[in-house]
Amino acid sequence: TQILLGLVIGAAIGWALGASGVSAHADDPAAAAAWVTASWPYLLLDLAGDLFLNGLRLIIVPLVTTSILLAMIGIGRGPGVGRLGLITLGYYTATSAIAIFVGLTLVNLVAPGLTGDGVGLLAGADLDAFASDQAALEDRTGDAGLADFLNVFRELVPANVFAAAAADKLLGLICVSLLLGLHLARRSGDARDTLVRLVRGVYDATLWVTDLVLRTAPIGVVGLLGATVAEQYARLVPDARFGAFALGLLTFAGTALAALLVHALVVMPIVLLLLARVNPIAHLRGVFPALVTAFSTASSSATLPLTMSCVEERCGVDRKVAGFTLPLGATVNMDGTALYECVAAVFICQAFGVDLTLPQQAMIVATALLTSIGVAGVPAASLVAIIVILEAVQAQLPAAAPPLIAGLGLLYVFDRPLDMCRTAVNVLSDSVAARVVAARAIRSAG
Ligand code: ASP
Repeated sequence: TQILLGLVIGAAIGWALGASGVSAHADDPAAAAAWVTASWPYLLLDLAGDLFLNGLRLIIVPLVTTSILLAMIGIGRGPGVGRLGLITLGYYTATSAIAIFVGLTLVNLVAPGLTGDGVGLLAGADLDAFASDQAALEDRTGDAGLADFLNVFRELVPANVFAAAAADKLLGLICVSLLLGLHLARRSGDARDTLVRLVRGVYDATLWVTDLVLRTAPIGVVGLLGATVAEQYARLVPDARFGAFALGLLTFAGTALAALLVHALVVMPIVLLLLARVNPIAHLRGVFPALVTAFSTASSSATLPLTMSCVEERCGVDRKVAGFTLPLGATVNMDGTALYECVAAVFICQAFGVDLTLPQQAMIVATALLTSIGVAGVPAASLVAIIVILEAVQAQLPAAAPPLIAGLGLLYVFDRPLDMCRTAVNVLSDSVAARVVAARAIRSAG
């Protein structure tokens, strides 16, 4: 209740602050946003939000490593470890594929990139209007080709675990923890027992810190949401580019949102009912604080401490299962992201009037699936993956085809609000994974 209250209060304060910025600088989004971000209420909200976010991030590395180690130590001796891994990975791939399918169907049906008379939204448009957003995006993402993107998988084996931990490179840490956990599960003796006690000690201490940070969640949510809403409001509302693209952009955002809602409120409940025999409403209620935090932070990694605490304490999922599936899921299982990448890439193609063939759509699906695994659980991470997808499509088009990447500026307009929604879907899917694995792998392994 407190977190929900934080959500409402944060949104209200942010709305009021954004509106003041807009009334001070009507018609100039950059000046309105600058006014808002320099005002003292914004600075205070931002500080509160950042403190909460830092608190969450502080916990991630010790929480991920120790919970995976303990989970593996607990499971590793039993016969179920291979089955557990298979069911988890099977769930991640299958649900992401379903999410992509939902997105692809809706974006083809609605065709938000086309105007009423079937012409691409960007046909003959002045792309310079988006140049500054485009430049900001490129600053952040650099030159991301498929080859660069595959480097993510190189992180599976970190050359130095401490360097990986310091740089928040979770994929490598997860792999090392899985291996080490398996090793500890199969050994005995004094040295092993000492190590296990150390891991348990660190885990307990981390839980204590987690509890402390979670108590501040309502205030953190006010700060995060207030600052985001204020800034977005001031940036978006007076944006003159809306005139030309308003309908198309709103239809795009609506399509992405509708697809995310179908996945969260239709697909996920069906999965819960069929595969885990769990009441979907009770589950949603249980993980609600994590969903709100995912929405406020737009980062599934930062939300992980909350996801774990909700799934274990409020939903009663076995610690071993949660400790294994959730850290892994926060890094590799991103249903909302996969869905969004697909909707966004097809939207941009439509906007340029590029008619995608079936094999090209299939390629988008495959690339979205692959990149959603490699995307980090941080804000706006999808945009990099969308560049990869657009480059892959571009390579299949004739040389005279329009430069698809130039359409990224369109996505930038609504990225934050949509990022908040897709992150909540990512976290929801992780929590459902824990439920499914608990029901299928552990119970059947006895
Ligand atoms: N923000 C998302 C997450 O953390 C990733 C993305 O789609 O940008 O899950």
